[in-house]
Amino acid sequence: MAKLRQIAFYGKGGIGKSTTSQNTLAALAEMGQKILIVGCDPKADSTRLILHSKAQTTVMHLAAEAGSVEDLELEDVLSVGFGGIKCVESGGPEPGVGCAGRGVITAINFLEEEGAYDEDLDFVFYDVLGDVVCGGFAAPLQHADRALIVTANDFDSIFAMNRIVQAIGAKAKNYNVRLGGVIANRSDATDQIDKFNSATGLRTLAHFPLLDEIRKSRLQKSTLFELPDSPAVQAVQNEYLRLAAQLWAGGDPLPAVPMKDRDIFDLLGFD
Ligand code: ADP
Ligand code: MG
Repeated sequence: MAKLRQIAFYGKGGIGKSTTSQNTLAALAEMGQKILIVGCDPKADSTRLILHSKAQTTVMHLAAEAGSVEDLELEDVLSVGFGGIKCVESGGPEPGVGCAGRGVITAINFLEEEGAYDEDLDFVFYDVLGDVVCGGFAAPLQHADRALIVTANDFDSIFAMNRIVQAIGAKAKNYNVRLGGVIANRSDATDQIDKFNSATGLRTLAHFPLLDEIRKSRLQKSTLFELPDSPAVQAVQNEYLRLAAQLWAGGDPLPAVPMKDRDIFDLLGFD
């Protein structure tokens, strides 16, 4: 059995982590890979396209109903969707009631104890909330070998990306996690991302402009691989397949050095 590979998606809120991760997983499933995705956002929408509906059974929600997480079984929280992809949502407490990141730690511990990682899998993916790389939201970095960053070609998401590079650098001292690369999303141009990449040693693996096909797939609650065929749909599928092939091939980690926060203002022309 090939070594299990674990990959975490990070990036600013709303930038397209869940969209990009699910379509990339769908591409890997098309290539015959066996995959588990762990949604690490209390919004629990990391698996909606793969399952064609919002997951109703998050680990935290079911644990609250059952009394404790010890009363849950793996099959209670695990759903299988497009391409046989196994889906788990960690969920979280109501906003303002307790630490949302706690749900991520609870879910990952539960999955480990229940043997979810021991099954016949090629990849485990984590789709993690926003740009907060603290507490529970950093927990996937203790498991992942690679972290990918989704960003647009704008100051805010590049600023968030730099924070993520800082966090991964810190975690890499004690854990296996390394930077895998950047995914440019929701932007036609990539000049600002390119500047940041050159300054830090990062590399862009794939580029998705703001595309109507991606918007349609969201409305249809399905991955790009289930949309009616057209040249435009095929072009987007091909970019996800190209990204998936790079993840499959592995590739060397990027030894990126983050910037000082204030230097990003100069680099991107916001002084
Ligand atoms: P995140 O998980 O980072 O919070 P989502 O993946 O949920 O972000 O994306 C936010 C919204 O943007 C969704 O409605 C999604 O369909 C849309 N979206 C993401 N990427 C693109 C894109 N490249 N083109 C068009 N719409 C996109
Ligand atoms: Mg998301």
